[in-house]
Amino acid sequence: MTFANLGLIEPLLHVLQQMDYTTPTPIQAKAIPAVLAGRDLMAAAQTGTGKTAGFGLPLLQRLAMEGEKVASNSIRALVLVPTRELAEQVHANLRAYAEHLPLSTYAVYGGVSINPQMMRLRRGVDLLVATPGRLLDLFRQNALKFGQVQTLVLDEADRMLDLGFAEELQAVYAALPRKRQTLLFSATFSEQIRLLAGLALNDPLSIEVSPRNVTASTVKQWLVTVDKKRKADLFCHLLRKKRWGQVLVFAKTRNGVDQLVERLQGEGIKADGIHGDRPQATRQRALDSFKQREIQVLVATDVAARGLDIDDLPLVVNLDLPIVAEDYVHRIGRTGRAGNSGEAISLVCADEVQLLAAIEVLTRQTLPRHDEPDFIPDHRVPQTDASGQVIKKPKKPKKPKETAAKRGLGKWMDSSGSDAPAVKPVRKVPSFNGGPRKKGKS
Ligand code: AMP
Repeated sequence: MTFANLGLIEPLLHVLQQMDYTTPTPIQAKAIPAVLAGRDLMAAAQTGTGKTAGFGLPLLQRLAMEGEKVASNSIRALVLVPTRELAEQVHANLRAYAEHLPLSTYAVYGGVSINPQMMRLRRGVDLLVATPGRLLDLFRQNALKFGQVQTLVLDEADRMLDLGFAEELQAVYAALPRKRQTLLFSATFSEQIRLLAGLALNDPLSIEVSPRNVTASTVKQWLVTVDKKRKADLFCHLLRKKRWGQVLVFAKTRNGVDQLVERLQGEGIKADGIHGDRPQATRQRALDSFKQREIQVLVATDVAARGLDIDDLPLVVNLDLPIVAEDYVHRIGRTGRAGNSGEAISLVCADEVQLLAAIEVLTRQTLPRHDEPDFIPDHRVPQTDASGQVIKKPKKPKKPKETAAKRGLGKWMDSSGSDAPAVKPVRKVPSFNGGPRKKGKS
């Protein structure tokens, strides 16, 4: 199978040759002819298997061969993505694919000034990549018209269709022409999202090149159990002991990201962080330096979970498990891309056992456990498996308590007759400079 067999035109074949794409990936082999034929699509494929080219190449071809010249403040195709970094990345890929075609491409997203975006849109853009919030801002300020849109792509479609974006997406749908091609691409699709997505599609073709919601077989996955408060210690310990090179770390909260970055930097490790509270320029700079290997550890919230393509990233570490099991698939999909091998390690504490069980059910596997000798947790993480069971060790039956009344002490029990202290221990008041606390001063 070659790209020429799929019906792509010379200017695209030329670019693919320059980029050293010799054979279409399975998702490309299926999606390219269907998109060229104008079909609506719901396509599921593992992350890192060439989805962007799967929709991008045929989309660009259709834009080059069909339709009218783009009008001022108009666009002819719209690719919606959930994060700003992904908007940059997808746009960079599409711009490269369009190199020998007479088409304009552009990306708009929040966190940066809107004015240059408004100026650029005046000339019209054939293919626009956007995050939904900024897209709607531009639309509401009359900087964008949707009348010419012939194709809508939702990249990371399940994320775009979940509650977080529901309102914005409804507003975009309402503004787009009804007659259009709609393409949904994602590595994960829940049943509910599939049903919801189907409503917006016209006689869609469903493409699945691998079972849904599975992780790439090229990624070796395992976990270490640890107490919550010792996670950062364990990460630093493993980083040194295992001589890890480049690592992408996912933490649950923005605070968690900042704390780990600070600690790593304090230990002389080149680290930076990405989360929603950081200015966009700083986020993009951190990602770019990580891609250039100028920093060793990038710590991020789930804003970096989706779609980001980091060349030959060997390792992803989950400092915390994601709340939504699908995000596990996306997070670890940052490694093991384009047929490379990778490793994904999760540091799991007892509080996270239900999240772990949900991940194992979704990905139909039981994650192997490795103990780290100095970090055996006090709070054991119950055994889980791919059936969703959390196997708790049976509790030892409690010994009946010997009550004070039985011992004939009545309610005036004191410490002499009991294992437990009769009164709560008085908490010591910390003194200044180790000396006794002076009266009258606070
Ligand atoms: P994506 O899933 O679109 O993020 O692509 C993952 C990676 O695979 C990117 O680095 C692409 O440049 C690369 N890629 C996509 N399609 C091909 C192909 N047919 N041959 C070689 N590399 C590809």
